[in-house]
Amino acid sequence: MRIAITGGKGGTGKSTIATALAYKLAKTKKVLLLDLDVDCPNDDLILGIKTKKVKDVESMIPKFDYKKCKKCGLCSKICKEHAIVFVKGNFPFVIPEQCIGCKACKIVCPFHAITEEKQKIGEIFIGKKGNLTLIGGKMKPVIEESSLVVNAVKKFSQEYEKKYDYVIVDTAAGTHCPVISALLNCDIAFAVTEPTPLGQHDLELILKLTKKLKIKSYVILNRSDIANKKMIENIARKYKTKIIAEIPYSKEIEKNYSVGKPIEHEAIDQIINMVK
Ligand code: SF4
Ligand code: SF4
Repeated sequence: MRIAITGGKGGTGKSTIATALAYKLAKTKKVLLLDLDVDCPNDDLILGIKTKKVKDVESMIPKFDYKKCKKCGLCSKICKEHAIVFVKGNFPFVIPEQCIGCKACKIVCPFHAITEEKQKIGEIFIGKKGNLTLIGGKMKPVIEESSLVVNAVKKFSQEYEKKYDYVIVDTAAGTHCPVISALLNCDIAFAVTEPTPLGQHDLELILKLTKKLKIKSYVILNRSDIANKKMIENIARKYKTKIIAEIPYSKEIEKNYSVGKPIEHEAIDQIINMVK
């Protein structure tokens, strides 16, 4: 079974829940945890798992042949990422951090003046502790588009997945491309939120997305006692789902998180009941 731990808003505790769920399930089952929050992966720290790099993630970047280039500017015009700088009368050049390797510039160049080079955009890492295997991705700082790293981790982990009872996907915050990519093929999603106006707003966005992707979704309310949860209940009702677990604010949980210790809470058992 493939389970997504997601949520529109950052800082609601997705990684806390994903690691706690993986930790508990791994007591009796084989669990593969995918850390697809590639901008800031931290599941290894919370679980105290030592990881090692297994692969670089590379992407295509254009290389200009200035002997062939006629300074027409078409490559710059086609680039949706604004990664090619072109000033009339001058040769174009690329801003590597903005290039997503789509190859449109190479295809459009009428003078075949563009070939492909590779640039490293991230890494894939792996770690293991008992029944639990962690595979994740880490973006190179300053690279802007994280979907390529998310997709590379998903491809790399494919051959592992068959050997596990559960695959838990820890997504990034938001509803942008890397999150969509992480959610694809998940059987069930748990949206982690908190009872704040921003939590309510972002919960609605993620539930709208999982509905579009036809993924059965439930809500986990973290720090459930910091404000009135009515607003979260209303959103859950609107999307025909419910809050299946609540975790009140706890200094102990915060402390465990800060020292890299997975939380143990009855709410995790409630999630496990939903995925048995
Ligand atoms: S499209 Fe080709 S010829 Fe035109 S500016 Fe770009 S590299 Fe040069
Ligand atoms: S490969 Fe795509 S993103 Fe990169 S410079 Fe060319 S058009 Fe732009």
